[in-house]
Amino acid sequence: MNIRPETPAKNTILVAGGAGFVGSHLCEALLEQGHRVLCLDSFATGREDNILPLCSYDDFRMVRGDVRARLDLRETVDRVYNLASPASPPQYQADPIHTMLTNVQGTAHLLDLARDHGARFLQASTSEVYGDPEVHPQPETYPGRVNCTGPRACYDEGKRAAEALCFDHARAGLDVRVARIFNTYGPRMRPDDGRVVSNFLVQALRGQDITIYGKGQQTRSFCYVSDLVAGLIALMEVPTAPKTAINLGNPEEFTILELAQQVQALVPGDVDLVFRPLPTDDPQRRCPDISRARELLGWAPKVSLDQGLPQTAAWFAAAVGAKRSPQGA
Ligand code: NAD
Ligand code: UDP
Repeated sequence: MNIRPETPAKNTILVAGGAGFVGSHLCEALLEQGHRVLCLDSFATGREDNILPLCSYDDFRMVRGDVRARLDLRETVDRVYNLASPASPPQYQADPIHTMLTNVQGTAHLLDLARDHGARFLQASTSEVYGDPEVHPQPETYPGRVNCTGPRACYDEGKRAAEALCFDHARAGLDVRVARIFNTYGPRMRPDDGRVVSNFLVQALRGQDITIYGKGQQTRSFCYVSDLVAGLIALMEVPTAPKTAINLGNPEEFTILELAQQVQALVPGDVDLVFRPLPTDDPQRRCPDISRARELLGWAPKVSLDQGLPQTAAWFAAAVGAKRSPQGA
């Protein structure tokens, strides 16, 4: 007997923050799967360039709007992904009240919309809910250590409040999934984004000094964007909503100094490392425990930093018109 695999249903999917770095890759993956995608974005940190490749799909529609305002959509949606929020520390600290309200009011509006449409909801939360952690690596059960009055609070506490809202709606019957995303990098990050991977690559490609904050002994774990997108879709589509947030990230951990040295090795020409003050409340260690994602979603990252960094460097080289070409790209 020839049993054909079931064709997945064509869903109408709202991606809030779809013109951003992660959101544009998510929209593209969903369009490739045959879904209809509505991208809602205010372009606070997103870019029209990110959505240009999506405009060739008949099933793509762009809706310009700010999630801090209540939303009315003409069509019914089956899924809502909420990625709307600045994510880079310099960008989310530039207008902290916008950041906090985007995360609290914006998430509330999108949860209401999902409830009214009978849609599934996925929240893009963050490893920042763990703050500067005393537990390493961080499992989802760790409640975190966040300074609620510091300059990162607009983002950390905004995301924590958004998670609380999500689980309140879940207890009231909405199908809600929460991803705690760890540092993710790849093509389509803004060259002036301010995060570490984009800063180091753009500096090296332009022949400028690489700026290390502090002594560079703090750690991060870097997930390539295609792995993250696969994890977000797996979490949205797993039949039963997990009862807790789920960490999504790459558990390979590097010091910031090691990252800088990898970038030096990748981009030809001499660039120096310079040391600058460590920002307030900068977390010292960060690495995800992804046991739950492995067990519940069958998901794990596939792209190592060795593989993802050259691809990202090649993309930045073209984006900034660099004369230096990265090795191995
Ligand atoms: P990004 O800044 O590139 O994308 C965010 C998008 O949200 C942008 O297109 C921006 O214009 C839009 N946006 C911001 N405020 C808005 C508002 N009020 N109304 C409508 N749109 C608004 O950031 P990213 O790296 O793509 O992050 C996407 C999501 O993933 C964010 O929610 C972020 O908190 C989360 N996240 C990302 C990372 C990461 O390393 N990339 C890590 C943890 C969590
Ligand atoms: N960082 C750095 N130089 C830079 C940008 C960032 O040393 O030019 C450090 C930053 O202090 C932090 C780490 O790199 O310790 C990751 O920073 P990023 O802004 O990418 O994300 P975070 O994980 O802090 O949200």
